[in-house]
Amino acid sequence: MDHSWISPVFWIWFWIWIWTGFSSAEEEVLMNTKLETSDLRWTIYPSSDPEWEEMSGLDEEGNSVRTFQICPMDTSVSHWLRTRFIPLRGATQVYVEIRFTVMECSAMPSSFRSCKETFNLLYYQSDEDTASSTHPAWMENPYSKVDTVAADFLLRRGGEKKSNVKTVRVGPLSKKGFYLAFQAQGACMALLSVRVFFKKCPSVTRSFSSFPETLPHSLVQQAEGVCVPNSAPTDQAPPTMFCGEDGQWVGPPSSSCVCKPGFEPLDSDRCRACGSGQYKVSIGGSLCRVCPDNSNTHSPGSSVCVCRPGFHRAASDLPDSPCTRPPSAPRSIISQINDTVVTLEWSEPLDRGGRSDLSYSVECVRCRGSSCVPCTDSVTYRPGQVGVVGRRVIIRGLLPHTTYTFSVIAQNGVSAVSHTSPASSSVNITTSRDVAVPVSGIRRTKASESSVSISWTIPSQTQHSILDYQLRYSLMDQDDGWQYVSSKSSSVVLSDLSRASQYQVQVRARTSAGYGHFSPAASISTLPDDEEPPSRLLLTGVLVAIGLLILIAVGIVAVFCFRRSSRRRDPDPDKSSQFLMGQGMKVYIDPFTYEDPNELVREFAKEIDVSFVKIEEVIGAGEFGEVCRGRLRVPGKKENYVAIKTLKAGYTDKQRRDFLSEASIMGQFQHPNIIHLEGVITASCPVMILTEYMENGALDSFLRLNDGQFTPIQLVGMLRGIASGMKYLSEMSYVHRDLAARNILVNSNLVCKVSDFGLSRFLTENSSDPTYTSSLGGKIPIRWTAPEAIAFRKFTSASDVWSYGIVMWEVMSFGERPYWDMSNQDVINAIEQDYRLPPPPECPASLHQLMLDCWQKERSSRPRFCAIVSALDRLIRNPASLKITGRISDGTSHPLLDQRPPPSLSHCSSVSDWLRIIKMERYEDNFLQAGFTSIQLVSHISTEDLLRIGVTLAGHQKKILSSVQMLRVLPY
Ligand code: AMP
Repeated sequence: MDHSWISPVFWIWFWIWIWTGFSSAEEEVLMNTKLETSDLRWTIYPSSDPEWEEMSGLDEEGNSVRTFQICPMDTSVSHWLRTRFIPLRGATQVYVEIRFTVMECSAMPSSFRSCKETFNLLYYQSDEDTASSTHPAWMENPYSKVDTVAADFLLRRGGEKKSNVKTVRVGPLSKKGFYLAFQAQGACMALLSVRVFFKKCPSVTRSFSSFPETLPHSLVQQAEGVCVPNSAPTDQAPPTMFCGEDGQWVGPPSSSCVCKPGFEPLDSDRCRACGSGQYKVSIGGSLCRVCPDNSNTHSPGSSVCVCRPGFHRAASDLPDSPCTRPPSAPRSIISQINDTVVTLEWSEPLDRGGRSDLSYSVECVRCRGSSCVPCTDSVTYRPGQVGVVGRRVIIRGLLPHTTYTFSVIAQNGVSAVSHTSPASSSVNITTSRDVAVPVSGIRRTKASESSVSISWTIPSQTQHSILDYQLRYSLMDQDDGWQYVSSKSSSVVLSDLSRASQYQVQVRARTSAGYGHFSPAASISTLPDDEEPPSRLLLTGVLVAIGLLILIAVGIVAVFCFRRSSRRRDPDPDKSSQFLMGQGMKVYIDPFTYEDPNELVREFAKEIDVSFVKIEEVIGAGEFGEVCRGRLRVPGKKENYVAIKTLKAGYTDKQRRDFLSEASIMGQFQHPNIIHLEGVITASCPVMILTEYMENGALDSFLRLNDGQFTPIQLVGMLRGIASGMKYLSEMSYVHRDLAARNILVNSNLVCKVSDFGLSRFLTENSSDPTYTSSLGGKIPIRWTAPEAIAFRKFTSASDVWSYGIVMWEVMSFGERPYWDMSNQDVINAIEQDYRLPPPPECPASLHQLMLDCWQKERSSRPRFCAIVSALDRLIRNPASLKITGRISDGTSHPLLDQRPPPSLSHCSSVSDWLRIIKMERYEDNFLQAGFTSIQLVSHISTEDLLRIGVTLAGHQKKILSSVQMLRVLPY
């Protein structure tokens, strides 16, 4: 066969082969002649006279390719060309892309009969490669025809040289492979390339679901996906998506997956673990968040942040709420006792633990000596004993004259889950002894030989109504033979008595608070057989009177002997009363009336073994040496904090005596508002005085530190304590002489105790005045001292009352200096001219009136300490009275005005200067560290800023903000 004319045409077309996009991610190629480099080994029919001719050439990229061409002379015969077996690899429909050229029939020589410009494409399916040159038969059945393929562009000489590309779909196919067949029936053509491929949906990740590569077996093929790592399905069913016949995924997945807790979405297809210090609580598309306060994570991918040690979450707290801790102890418990009713009030804990669900509970124990038992159910609490939201509880049903310890416990939502014991503050209270007023006026109204009728006066009882009376009687001087009788009325008839006998009778009343005390014994007698003649009665009376006189004389002689034996020196006759136990009242003994004051130290101060004491830190400077805090552990007793005053080395004998005299004075006092002496150490060096430790130190500095922090009722509670201590001292005939806030110590429960008994050593011993005269001269604390004490050195309890008035003023002004910066002389002159300190800001008028009473010029007009205590008790019972502020003019004194110019802010150039002027220098570091480094910046500060930088006390905030207001109007 002569093909010489064709060759140039085909070769030309060969090189103008246009190669377009051939493969894509969605296509899998089953056969591609372009990639074959050796013979294609396709089968040609008829084999006897093969017209299809395999040829090699180079495509435009220079690759060697195999092609077939045909240009049969005999067009009456079908010329078949069949590919090799094409395995389907699971595909059920394939695409055949044919690149070919066809000669235009009109361009063919006329010898070409029945010239055609089309060819047929057929296929034959088979599970195995079984075809041969004779099988299957070369005809349309068993082959299946796909299409008759016509060329869009025909070749003609001198015409445009363009190849055709046709893609036809073959299928559905059901066997493992197939053969393609090209049937030319008169076409003069060339097959430049044949590519067989199928389309598939590639593996894809959508909406956090991964779908595998999927072959579309039908129009749309459903594929099942899985959630990407660290995600989970939102539905029970796994996600599905459709794979279209064109290899394209159709639509979004049926259900989606979302990131698990601890993981956040990244690139919309991946879930990334939350970093350390971050968490994500819920499943879903939200992002990781920074751990809430006081919590952290131990590893990446955390769904919850774990609380730092000491912090917790309550069961009801959400996982994204901050961790919190139990509150600190309630502060400053104030107690009021009214017979057997106790009212407790306290201040909020400094630290609420970061929660708002703060509540309190009250625990009550009854103590006798060192053994305590929980209070019984008869004790009631209002509004309740536990879960109290307010800061006040009234406790009723207590036994009279009994010591209780009340603990106020602060709790919040995490107290239950915290393993630490809840913080509490305690207060010891002894209920009133005088539950019922003692009965008096016991008298005989009728008598016979064996019976007497007795009646008594009904006590004027204000607190409780009297339920009944109990009467006891016994024969005179037979105290162990008491008989008891009860009566609802104020009279009783005693029968079965002995004739002409003297009985002692006592009566006591019972109220809802319990029994009061028995009255003093009254002597009641029964009648003899006959009334005795008056002369005999008179004789008996005379004899009794003589007996009594003898008794009194013996008593006086005994007291005289006692005084002589206890005083080694010649005593001042006017001070002798100090040694007497007058009517049961103990009286203070002045150590300097003892020849050897050490004797008094031995009598009143316990010697403590130095090995029981551990000194911890220096807390102050005393007149004789350092004051330290330490611990005292006496074997068999609870360890206690103590304050330790030391006597510095190199002391003289006199200094040692003076130093220890304070202990011998203090040791004589036993009162809750007087500093308690633990003991002394004199057997070793240094000599020490140990007293109870007062956590809040001196009252003046404590108040300045807590400026504005206490309510008037709390301040009155403190003043009441001081007055009560002073009442005790005055009853012991002790004159303090240096009563001032600096000499009052405050403990953690805000209990104030009088201290500093050092001044008394300056008392003159040879004064004939029963009150004392000072030899202190210029050392008198002028601002605190009554005018008569300054002028005539007349120190009495009444001059202590004056000083107490000054202490009241110090307390109500939170530690302001009395008379500000006036000179001592100006103070003396002002007082002389009846000027008196005005009420401190927001001071209740009733308290200022009490101050003015204490500052009466005439000392006998000043109230006594017992009256001051009662007045303060009345105010505490009626807190509404404390709401009235302002000055009440009593007509006898004039208000002294603070004549200091207001602090000039315009001169302060720095924040430090300004803070010093407004006495808030303690916050200097807070301001500077928070960036408030200039006055200009400070002038814009707000309450929130103050809170943030750590100024949490309301009084201090008020002070700073009001000064800031002034700064704003100054020209900076
Ligand atoms: P004094 O020598 O008593 O004036 O004490 C000097 C300072 O030591 C006082 O201002 C207090 O700050 C401190 N101080 C004295 N006694 C005690 C105490 N019992 N508890 C706590 N601090 C005390």
